[in-house]
Amino acid sequence: MAVLNRLLSECIRDVDGLGKYLKLEKADEDRIREISERYPICIPPYYLGLIDPDNPEDPVRRICIPGMQELSGTGVEDTSGEGDNTVIRGMQHKYRQTALILTTNQCSMYCRFCFRKRMVGYTDQETAEHIKEMAEYVAQHTEINNVLLSGGDALVNSNETIAMYLKTFSQIPTLDFIRIGTRTPVVLPMRIYEDEELLGILKEYNRKKQILIVTHFNHLNEVTPEAKKAVDALIACGCVVRNQTVLLKGVSDDPKALARLLNRLVSIGVIPYYVFQCRPARGALDEFQIPLLKGSAIVEEAKSMMNGQAKSIHYCMSHVTGKIEILGEIEPGKMLFKYHQAKYAKDNSRIFMEELAPDQCWL
Ligand code: SF4
Repeated sequence: MAVLNRLLSECIRDVDGLGKYLKLEKADEDRIREISERYPICIPPYYLGLIDPDNPEDPVRRICIPGMQELSGTGVEDTSGEGDNTVIRGMQHKYRQTALILTTNQCSMYCRFCFRKRMVGYTDQETAEHIKEMAEYVAQHTEINNVLLSGGDALVNSNETIAMYLKTFSQIPTLDFIRIGTRTPVVLPMRIYEDEELLGILKEYNRKKQILIVTHFNHLNEVTPEAKKAVDALIACGCVVRNQTVLLKGVSDDPKALARLLNRLVSIGVIPYYVFQCRPARGALDEFQIPLLKGSAIVEEAKSMMNGQAKSIHYCMSHVTGKIEILGEIEPGKMLFKYHQAKYAKDNSRIFMEELAPDQCWL
């Protein structure tokens, strides 16, 4: 059996499976069962093993075990206008230079804070179908200089599918690099370091086009020897590995925890580049969002404990109008913002100020 299939077959997908790893009250079991009918569970035993079973507030537990408020119904399904930016089924063209492809709706772990909860593990209606058609679009739009293979988790595709994407897009001369968006180094690192076939594919196509792995560590407890082994294997294949983190209540909303995570990532060869404001996604915001004023204070205090490489982060929100950087509080209650990436040219690099309510989490 292929490495990926074997590892996915071992994942825990229901309450009964969870009960073997964690002590759950009857009320918790009922709640998790109800939530998982809409927002699925999938957790590799390796990742479950990172939880301290005696700590109900354990950060890894918060990331992977359903919370009390997932079915509250507040928030929106599509927080950044992905439907409007879709040019071909499964492919979005929001920013001039980037094409984003939803290669799958599957992940090896369903993060409870995911902003694509509307689709991951649930429906494949938004995922890519025809690679040839997407490649023609990218080749014709010469302003596109990079493609982001996302999902779901792009490394949960079969090796054959990954190779097909890399083969297709590495042939387009106007692309400078291909990005792969994946949580696999964090939640299922052995899918990378045990899979010689996958590593061979990455090595082969890195010779043709630079591959950037954009991964997603959110807490220091996720940076294990196994995760480092996966990162080492990716770097040995010629990949550049970078990280984005989401600022999450009960996980990374502590300046020391955030600084420790980002400093540690630099030390294993993963350069942090975004800290994202948690989006107002249905099924996620009540559990995880923190106010912008508080978030900015956390990020600034964390920066005072970071090395220069870790400090290359941008604290951003992926807004329907673009990627907006949260620059800082210029006077009490007034926040300065700057478009880091704009959907509309008129907003390119535009700086603006907004007065924020203390509990305001989004614009
Ligand atoms: S791995 Fe990514 S796409 Fe999948 S659930 Fe987590 S955040 Fe969402």
